[in-house]
Amino acid sequence: MKKYLKSHLLDFIIIGSLLILTLLSLIIIESVSSKKSVKAEIYLKGELVLTIDLDKESTEREIILNDDIKLMVKKGAIKVLENNCPTGFCISQGYSSSPARPIICAYHGLYIKLISRASDIDVVAG
Ligand SMILES: [Zn+2]
Repeated sequence: MKKYLKSHLLDFIIIGSLLILTLLSLIIIESVSSKKSVKAEIYLKGELVLTIDLDKESTEREIILNDDIKLMVKKGAIKVLENNCPTGFCISQGYSSSPARPIICAYHGLYIKLISRASDIDVVAG
């Protein structure tokens, strides 16, 4: 048994440190993604009409974009609240907080682009 342990000690050390590294990287990824700050750029028919720093929102509030479209913002997220488009798909999308999930309403030419702020990169590097 002693001999077995001795010859496999290196294996245990390697496996152990790999496990620790994996855990550490998981923790780092977790903390970075929870600190993510998001900005929303709202385009109407290709024109940038409004930029909102979603990180600075503290409570839910309504934004009236025009006669047809009402948006709702809260910390880190945005959604379409009211919109008279025929499909209503943009409303059913609900809150989006990820650059991977833009909100699009083809009927009104509405495009809400979510952007992770550049300061995120500083967090990762620092
Ligand atoms: Zn729509």
